[in-house]
Amino acid sequence: PWKMAVVGSCSRCDVQNFQGQNPSWRFRSTPATERALQYQAGQKIHGFTVKEVVAVPDLFLTAVKLTHDNTGAQYLHAARDDKNNLFSVQLRTTPMDNTGVPHILEHTVLCGSEKYPCRDPFFKMLNRSLSTFMNAFTASDFTMYPFSTQNGKDFQNLLSVYLDAVFFPCLRELDFWQEGWRLENENPTDPTSPLVFKGVVFNEMKGAFSDNERVYAQHLQNKLYPNHTYGVVSGGEPLAIPDLSWEQLKHFHATHYHPSNARFFTYGDLPLEQHLKQIQEEALSKFERTEPDTAVPNQPHWDRPYTADVNGFEEERIEALLHKIEIQMKHQSTSFGLSLASYIASCWNHDGDPVQLLKISDSVAQFRQALKDNPRFLQEKVLHYFKDNTHRLTLSMSPDEAYLEKQVKAEEEKLQKKVQALSESDKKDIYEKGLELLSVQSKIQDASCLPALKVSDIEPTIAVTPVEMGTAGGVPVQYCEQPTNGMVYFRAMCSLNTLPEDLKLYVPLFCSVITKMGCGGLDYRQQAQQMELKTGGMSISTSVNPDYSNVDMYEQGVLLSSSCLERNLPDMFHLWSDIFNSPHFDDEERLRVLVMMSAQELANGISYSGHMYAMTRAARSLTPTGELQETFGGMEQVKFMKRIAEMPDLTQVLRTLPRIKRHILNPLNMRCAVNATPQKMSDAAGQVDNFMSNVASNKKDRKPVRSDITEEPNFKPCQMKTFFPMPFPINFVSECIRTVPFTHEDYASLNILSRMMTAKYLHGEIREKGGAYGGGARVGGGLFTFYSYRDPNSVQTLSTFRKSVDWVRSGQFTQQDIDEAKLSVFSAVDSPVAPSNKGMGRFLSGITDELKQAHRERLFAVTDKKNGHLIFCIHVLHRYLGIGQRTCGVAILGPENDTIKKDPSWVVK
Ligand SMILES: [Zn+2]
Repeated sequence: PWKMAVVGSCSRCDVQNFQGQNPSWRFRSTPATERALQYQAGQKIHGFTVKEVVAVPDLFLTAVKLTHDNTGAQYLHAARDDKNNLFSVQLRTTPMDNTGVPHILEHTVLCGSEKYPCRDPFFKMLNRSLSTFMNAFTASDFTMYPFSTQNGKDFQNLLSVYLDAVFFPCLRELDFWQEGWRLENENPTDPTSPLVFKGVVFNEMKGAFSDNERVYAQHLQNKLYPNHTYGVVSGGEPLAIPDLSWEQLKHFHATHYHPSNARFFTYGDLPLEQHLKQIQEEALSKFERTEPDTAVPNQPHWDRPYTADVNGFEEERIEALLHKIEIQMKHQSTSFGLSLASYIASCWNHDGDPVQLLKISDSVAQFRQALKDNPRFLQEKVLHYFKDNTHRLTLSMSPDEAYLEKQVKAEEEKLQKKVQALSESDKKDIYEKGLELLSVQSKIQDASCLPALKVSDIEPTIAVTPVEMGTAGGVPVQYCEQPTNGMVYFRAMCSLNTLPEDLKLYVPLFCSVITKMGCGGLDYRQQAQQMELKTGGMSISTSVNPDYSNVDMYEQGVLLSSSCLERNLPDMFHLWSDIFNSPHFDDEERLRVLVMMSAQELANGISYSGHMYAMTRAARSLTPTGELQETFGGMEQVKFMKRIAEMPDLTQVLRTLPRIKRHILNPLNMRCAVNATPQKMSDAAGQVDNFMSNVASNKKDRKPVRSDITEEPNFKPCQMKTFFPMPFPINFVSECIRTVPFTHEDYASLNILSRMMTAKYLHGEIREKGGAYGGGARVGGGLFTFYSYRDPNSVQTLSTFRKSVDWVRSGQFTQQDIDEAKLSVFSAVDSPVAPSNKGMGRFLSGITDELKQAHRERLFAVTDKKNGHLIFCIHVLHRYLGIGQRTCGVAILGPENDTIKKDPSWVVK
């Protein structure tokens, strides 16, 4: 994919997502960090020289900086006792035109390399590995290839594939056509069908450019830094993409993807020597140093005048920000390595010192000192960077009803220009190349050149997460002791069972405003400030949890989520008490602002998450869970919020909020979960108790709710096909089929089937041939779901979904295919869980470790049947997905569609 980076150098870096996973929460010398401290500056290892070794206690890691002697490649290793090891290589890619050359190159290098010449080794590795992350990113001025895995052998396998892809890609002409752009007959097998533009990146960027925020940000960057690489679109301007030639692509690779222009980063508990050895042997030893001409010169400064007011800074604001930094350092996610890699990427890319960036405490201390020495420190910075800065751009964007039409027209003109320049023999050539690409894409592929883990490399049993159950003021509480680094995580699930039906649509709105309207003695600004000063965040969201054993049962509620430093727990509960006892529901203006923001966010989200909306809609008529999810987070909710945002008077909405509150924020409807360190747990339990007695006065006329689970035995699943016309040029297509719940014996087979169909059939048909950005199948919530993402096709993709079932039925898959699908299922099942989230599956869905282990055994068992398993899979498939067997729902979001309009079986919204 393509990420537009905010330009600049170190200024871009922030400490967001600074998180990690570490089993011990005081800095001790632990094996990985200890080992790394033994390195010494000047030491030579496998063609590298150690430049610097630094302990970074804040982040529980040791940083080792090295340089490659022959090529000058730079290397940073962060040794840390985290099993989720990460590798990343980044190249400085600074394009000077809008053809999207770095982005297309990023896609194309992943299409096969010298040692791994099979098509698309990258996607194939997804099924041969237990990777916890694999991807590639094109930013404005660098391209990055990161992966992570918890398995040492897997690390070596993936490293080998990545190194070969980046430094020795095939870059075949066919790959360029498939991933970049090509002219091709609309129907490749019909030479009389019109010529059109195709290509994965071409379509991806058309999708990206239909998002107005992105268009705005792109223009802002291009116009603010017009003179060099930031003046162009690194991802590719859709209509400039067809100006790129295959030769230009290869040249860009030769000049930019060289070790002398590369920065390597490794992270985790695996030994550094092994990484260095492999990188030296498989890549760097084959290169000599070059002097890459990829640096970005300073943008000449403008001299336009600028006036603005500079205000003082409240002490509290500064404290709130420093508190935020502390929380971000302590809160542990599962992708610490990746966060670190992205955090240092931009600054390092412009020759900043990555080790310096890691010493966050030093920076905070320096900042405090600077503030102490000079009380006007911040004001002066503002003067310098904002007020006295004449390099300033004011950009406004206004809507244009004809925007899409104009784009279509511009594409048509570009196409005609290209087509008119073609001779008859050119056209014949295009037709033949189209057929060639199709035949290559359709060929059964031999991926045996790629390294792979085996099913036997997978752990047979899960690690158990012990939890303790207790009560506080009569409310059930789940306690889970975890190395949370001094953070406390508090969640509560509040049932919606007593809420009248007509209020359901309002629940998401209620959730998004309830923590932002003010409470107790605090107005909404003070409330926001208290939350920033004392917590790591407090939020409420809807939660619909399908029952694990019955498709017609589910739990409906809202989930309170919050976290704070241990010392601030009383403050956090104080805030929750105020929200429960005295939320402010009187400020219509504030509500209007929040409503507008929510409605805008929802509307903007559709072009990113259209597949989610299509899937949610398709599921609506199949299960009670699906129906409720559509109400809370589907197109129905988007439409509802739009209607509310357009209301001239919100008093009626304002009056609805306290009604909802009475049903939801009530201890009689609640259960809670606390994750904290063992040392903090008993204190935390006391404070939960306290909180419950503070909010219990609220009970009045409430009687205890029925059980948490709602059953709808009268729900009648039915077929439904819905189309939503959208103002963007690409489709999101989904089809859902009602199947079985989590504990059903066929669930594991369906799970593995969905992975296999995705990897072995749907990906090839929908992405490679169809030109969509992505597509596949998945299971969950009692459904088998097909989807496509940013898809130039609509109804054709539905027939591809059906053909995938025929493909399985024809039995054209092997034991190897099933094993690969199984690995990919397990890599999802075993993806690391942060200490803050341990035990949450049990809390939310009641899925215990025993149920998980039973599911694990069923997954293994899908292949235990030796020769019978293939037939078994086909049976399972036939049982649920066979024609006549299924009850399915279909939804498409996309541009006006004549085929659908003419077909009365569709509901057009
Ligand atoms: Zn991309």
